[in-house]
Amino acid sequence: MSVAAARAPFVLPRAHVDIAVIGGGIVGLCTAGFLASAGCDVMLLDAGGSAASTANAGSLHVQMQSRFMRLFPDRVAGMERQLPLYPKAVAFWKEFERALDADFELKVSGGLMVAETPEQFEFLVAKSRRERELGLATELVGRDELARLAPYLGPHAIGAELCANEGKLNPLKCNAFVRAWAKRAGVEIVDRCRVDALASAGASRDAGFTLTTAGGALAARRVVVAAGPGARALMAGVGALLPVDPEPLHMNITEAVPPLILHLVQHAERSITLKQLSTGQVVIGGGWPARLAPGSAYPVVDPDSLAGNLALAQFMVPALAPLQVIRCWAGLNSKVDGRGVLGEMPDVPGLYAAVPGDAGYTLGPLSARLVADIVLGRDPGEDMTPYAPDRFAHERVAFSGAPAV
Ligand SMILES: Cc1cc2nc3c(=O)[nH]c(=O)nc-3n(C[C@H](O)[C@H](O)[C@H](O)COP(=O)(O)OP(=O)(O)OC[C@H]3O[C@@H](n4cnc5c(N)ncnc54)[C@H](O)[C@@H]3O)c2cc1C
Repeated sequence: MSVAAARAPFVLPRAHVDIAVIGGGIVGLCTAGFLASAGCDVMLLDAGGSAASTANAGSLHVQMQSRFMRLFPDRVAGMERQLPLYPKAVAFWKEFERALDADFELKVSGGLMVAETPEQFEFLVAKSRRERELGLATELVGRDELARLAPYLGPHAIGAELCANEGKLNPLKCNAFVRAWAKRAGVEIVDRCRVDALASAGASRDAGFTLTTAGGALAARRVVVAAGPGARALMAGVGALLPVDPEPLHMNITEAVPPLILHLVQHAERSITLKQLSTGQVVIGGGWPARLAPGSAYPVVDPDSLAGNLALAQFMVPALAPLQVIRCWAGLNSKVDGRGVLGEMPDVPGLYAAVPGDAGYTLGPLSARLVADIVLGRDPGEDMTPYAPDRFAHERVAFSGAPAV
């Protein structure tokens, strides 16, 4: 590339589109892909900042994560309302892999949430009972059965909750396949393009929207905001409240070893997820905090989390102790109220929220399909009431916007 070309100012490829999707994580890519596959004219704009979809652990979650229950007890009711969507979301990932003729390295080999004390096991007994009432297939396993199922666990494990339809995939492979599919479907993807402001294009309800970017303005008849923690500031531009907050999280991956860990492993009380990729590396994460770099919204590793996460991992699976950690990183998760926010914004026709909720990579493609159906005026085939953005209407009184992410 010549120096002149490298310095050429960035210009949007065109000034009008029918549907603009803001955010190129798993939800934005899938929503845009589903809409384009249905024949819509779609442009996707992505800032190119930190996306949870490129930083996540690739765990396919179904059972309630003890971490969320412990940290956000006030959100448990919200999480329970979304719980029935999780097994459907895992099934949807499988269908999606088949439909794209892709290899996501997807394996549904079950998830174990491990207890090390009788109190932790009692917690799992109550959790499992509640989850079964809500329609999940979970069961409890005692010490002997656990030793047979998961001989890699250390001697402290006394039992576990087993959820057979949990699993894992390789998010980097998925992102690449999904992006290629969206492009093939006709989505015009504009990378490194931050939408600085979103505004209504006129006073009438069907005036559409204006998106301001460094490459010029874009007029869109409809807009889907799939911008993770960036969604709050964008929605504020049209006077709408979407109270999504950034949650910086820590991740690690080890060198490759022969098959060792068969399940997605979690702990009944402590923050951890462990799983082994088909390539042999062990991915260790589960909610240890990262930091935001001073004066920025970019997540950076916190050394305390590196030490704590790895110490817990090798305590639970002693065979991990001699392994080299080859990489650690930080990512930015999105937190709302335990549930996704999926649908048209109240009082702003043509503007849609697409924020998947906790374990949002698991929920990503299905959430995107539900939002795409709503945009298309199709029946999504799910009761969308739990995910409707109008549940924040009462908070708007205190609403004062938030800094951009
Ligand atoms: C470390 C970590 C581990 C995780 N592990 C798991 C897991 O194992 N399993 C699981 O199910 N979930 C996991 N999650 C959660 C999951 O990754 C996210 O919920 C999911 O990826 C969210 O996808 P998204 O498309 O909504 O948002 P993102 O992937 O965050 O994408 C949002 C995109 O919007 C762009 N954007 C933001 N603002 C603007 C703007 N103004 N203009 C243009 N673009 C903008 C951003 O640059 C970004 O690319 C994890 C998250 C983290 C951080």
